[in-house]
Amino acid sequence: MTPSPKIAVLGSINMDLVIRCEKLPVPGETILAGSSSKISGGKGANQAVAAARAGGQVTMIGRVGDDAFAERLVANLKNEGVDCSQVQFTEDCSSGLAIVAVEESGQNSIMVVPGSNGKLTAEDVGKARSVIESSDVLLLQLEVPLNTVREAIRVAKQAGVKVILDPAPAPKTLPEEFLQVDLLCPNESEAKALTGISVQMVEEAIQAANVLRTKGAATVIITMGKQGALLVDRNGHQMIPAFPVKAKDTTAAGDAFAGALGAYWAMGNPLKEAIRFANAAGAIAASRFGAQPCMGDLEEITNLLSEMG
Ligand code: ADP
Repeated sequence: MTPSPKIAVLGSINMDLVIRCEKLPVPGETILAGSSSKISGGKGANQAVAAARAGGQVTMIGRVGDDAFAERLVANLKNEGVDCSQVQFTEDCSSGLAIVAVEESGQNSIMVVPGSNGKLTAEDVGKARSVIESSDVLLLQLEVPLNTVREAIRVAKQAGVKVILDPAPAPKTLPEEFLQVDLLCPNESEAKALTGISVQMVEEAIQAANVLRTKGAATVIITMGKQGALLVDRNGHQMIPAFPVKAKDTTAAGDAFAGALGAYWAMGNPLKEAIRFANAAGAIAASRFGAQPCMGDLEEITNLLSEMG
């Protein structure tokens, strides 16, 4: 077993500007909101933090802009122990930004400006080649250009590095080479977007996973919120149940799951155990408010696993 495996995460780094208000404004309306907070986010950065807290040695591959948020986003990742030598500052460009407005009822509206995330190129993958090649696992999502992700998959596969793809946000069709990763991990709505099958019940998830397998994915893990995660591979299917927790905010549960899955699987643990570990990480994230700051660490995840037997 590799006690501290190397994980490369290629993906988005965003500043989430969260504004809380009584009621969301309608078009043309100006309202006074209650509060605002700046929280580091982006699926790539979230998964990097989750993997680092779960025990991985993580290197982030991405881009920030040259605005006031850039330094802060990098400092936050460094503070989490993430190696940022492959995070580049981009001239004349804003950092990725998400404006999240949340009203008292819990309803939200979100606008995402990709900014520098949209400028991560296949050339940048070339610069990070040795980092990818020396990693145990490469974690990917789809908040950076598809061509860049495609190149990262190619480099990792050539070097025999395991690739986990969280296909979020899900495009209508995912080109074949994106399916030929080691683990494809959509949630229910991404599974629906990729297959057209509405996924709520386990039976529907099995059907969707099998469609993805027919299209070329060898191993599919569909995360299903409080139901847990479904594993479908050449040996059949298995539902690995979630840990019962009082959910407060499930925003980053999927990122907590993916990061923890990558770290624990890269340690050399069997996939089913890694999914159980990731379910515990997802449950911890769901039981707390916030995204990155709410990710559980190795001790908390291990404690939850042992409490539940
Ligand atoms: P996403 O955040 O991408 O929509 P999910 O909601 O499926 O992803 O959550 C990912 C994982 O986190 C789930 O497979 C599960 O293990 C855990 N999880 C999410 N919500 C809950 C919950 N309410 N209770 C327990 N575990 C949860």
